[in-house]
Amino acid sequence: MRIQLIQPAGEIHRHRSGIFKRSLRYAPLTLPTLAALVPDELEAEIALQDEGVQPLDLEFEADLVGLSAITGTAPRTYAIADELRARGHTVVIGGVHATLLPDEAAQHADAVVVSYAEESWPRLLRDFATGRLQPRYFAPTGRVLNVPIARRDLLKRNRYVTTNSIEATRGCPHRCEFCAVPAAWGGIYAHRPIADVIAELETFEKRHAVFIDLSPVEDTRHAKELYQAMIPLGIRWLGLATTRIAEDEELLRLAARSGCKGLLIGFESVDQPTLDGIQKPFHRAGRFAEIVKKLHDHGIAIQGCFVFGFDTDDESVFERTVEFVDRAKIDLPRYAVMTPFPGTAAYRQLQREGRLLHENWSLYDVEHVVFQPRQMSPERLQEGLHWAWQQSYRWRSIFSRVLGSRCLVPLSLSLNIGYRFYAKHLPEKARTVYRDEEFIAAAVRGQTLCCQMEDESFPLPAAAASLQTTLPISNLP
Ligand code: SF4
Repeated sequence: MRIQLIQPAGEIHRHRSGIFKRSLRYAPLTLPTLAALVPDELEAEIALQDEGVQPLDLEFEADLVGLSAITGTAPRTYAIADELRARGHTVVIGGVHATLLPDEAAQHADAVVVSYAEESWPRLLRDFATGRLQPRYFAPTGRVLNVPIARRDLLKRNRYVTTNSIEATRGCPHRCEFCAVPAAWGGIYAHRPIADVIAELETFEKRHAVFIDLSPVEDTRHAKELYQAMIPLGIRWLGLATTRIAEDEELLRLAARSGCKGLLIGFESVDQPTLDGIQKPFHRAGRFAEIVKKLHDHGIAIQGCFVFGFDTDDESVFERTVEFVDRAKIDLPRYAVMTPFPGTAAYRQLQREGRLLHENWSLYDVEHVVFQPRQMSPERLQEGLHWAWQQSYRWRSIFSRVLGSRCLVPLSLSLNIGYRFYAKHLPEKARTVYRDEEFIAAAVRGQTLCCQMEDESFPLPAAAASLQTTLPISNLP
């Protein structure tokens, strides 16, 4: 059996036509994990295409094609699926968007995988091999996550900053109302056996890792055991966490001793009423600066994510957030607009109130305003987003934050320069009209359609390459 697995990318993050010519991404785990789940007895030939790091190529021979979509890439995924089916391929669609809207995805696929695929994907493949493919596959996820070691050997390794991405937990027990994670997967929160995680870490040639777990410290016992077990490995790692990691001194100490050097934290807002309103009350805005300092004192750099456009946000939110980022010395700030992903409480509220501007999923990418904010115009929200990016990536802000934090300085500086480039080009790219049908037509003709900027390759400094690691740059909703 020949299997082709494709992860389409949105305009802003697509290979060559996106903002960065050279990807700053770590390798995604979805495709290599799906590849590892293919049953041995099928003796399958498997090929992966990650459009974030390579041009889409539809000229292949395959018995089955699997496509993985988030909401922002759904229309593109459907266009690719339609084209492949017209060429006679059998197409399966999965991922968070297909889980949120399986009936929509089913219009473009021979089969849809809903929720996590550890059990259903091998079953689907066996059914396909015996001519009994079903239109929909679903399997509940238990508390223990059994996943094989990802097939990193199938990735284009040199296209990523690292391929050492790994997971130790899956899902999140919280219910932040704008987040697609609880909407898609409910409160599923599963752990991998610690021995499995350690065994996979031991396969890494380089002594670094990026944990992609969304909420790894919510079960503090599991997190502490894992960090304790990682100490002898002597690796340096980056990951994600809620601010809870700084509230348990033993947990934080173990994380640092196990090699934690950087964390992505979704602070979301500097205003407590907003955090309470979005059901993230366990994040205490008044303690953010103290938490950041504590993490810095343990040698942990922070990629801090902030979201604009909540109902409690007025036009002062941009300036206040940028001021906090500078004052707290957030190493690598990242801004997004609130995006009401289908299935979320935020989506239902805005739909009920008639405030959704459209349902062009391509623009549901956290960089475009797709709803009527309560306290400002959509245009003002969009401008405020771009303003915040550009303010935080002025040279003065970069140097003040990076030198003030004193964590991972060469790498942090390199990434800040990368984000400065991103901030500069975001407004222009955000205006780009999505032309997926044209892209597909061009791909059919064997061309690559690029709305490429003038030759302004991203100057990734040598320091980043030599450290061979990066803070996680989440493309998650
Ligand atoms: S925003 Fe983070 S903490 Fe909240 S539900 Fe989503 S993944 Fe969990």
